[in-house]
Amino acid sequence: MDTIDREEVDEVCALAEAGQQDYDARFELSRMLLEPIEDEASDSKMIACCKGCDHCCHLRIEAYEFELDSIHAYYLRELNSEQQAKIKEAIVERYPIVKDLGDQEQRSINVRCPFLIDSQCSIYPVRPMSCAGYNSCDDSLCKRSNDDPNDTSFGIPQDQNIGYMKMRQMALVQMALDLSFEEEREIISGMHRRLFG
Ligand code: SF4
Ligand code: SF4
Repeated sequence: MDTIDREEVDEVCALAEAGQQDYDARFELSRMLLEPIEDEASDSKMIACCKGCDHCCHLRIEAYEFELDSIHAYYLRELNSEQQAKIKEAIVERYPIVKDLGDQEQRSINVRCPFLIDSQCSIYPVRPMSCAGYNSCDDSLCKRSNDDPNDTSFGIPQDQNIGYMKMRQMALVQMALDLSFEEEREIISGMHRRLFG
């Protein structure tokens, strides 16, 4: 895995600053962070992940505030009114379920992500790094975990190279924006705050 250099850190800083006013810079920052993770996933010979496989989109998803801002901007600019209405409706329905839940409590019930429409991620180009870095070498275990989230008798086998790349990109975020993983927020509550105040 390549090291993080000063130039890359400066680029993240510059895009994050420009992104406060400029949608294109915000989008570019998302792509800059996600593409290395996506490349690692597409090179993997081990993972079972494929389009339409969505058991993992019921897990608790966390994102940095700047990722939630990018998702919100993408929602407003790129999604049509029908997609927006479906997402809004799903957030209204699911926010009361998750708003007071801790990490483990939400993982023990699983809640479908509001951005999942017809088994596809409606915000795929700007989805959180936590989604892009998640993977599995056995989709039957993902299904089993989703069917019974309280069954902790097995783990999900993953391609560690993808996970390492996600950690590298999170380290880049920490160096550039001084954000640790502890500052990630749950996605449904984060979007509810942006859409409804
Ligand atoms: S992590 Fe599991 S559920 Fe998600 S896409 Fe990969 S195989 Fe499917
Ligand atoms: S943001 Fe997209 S990839 Fe992530 S959980 Fe939601 S639908 Fe799945």
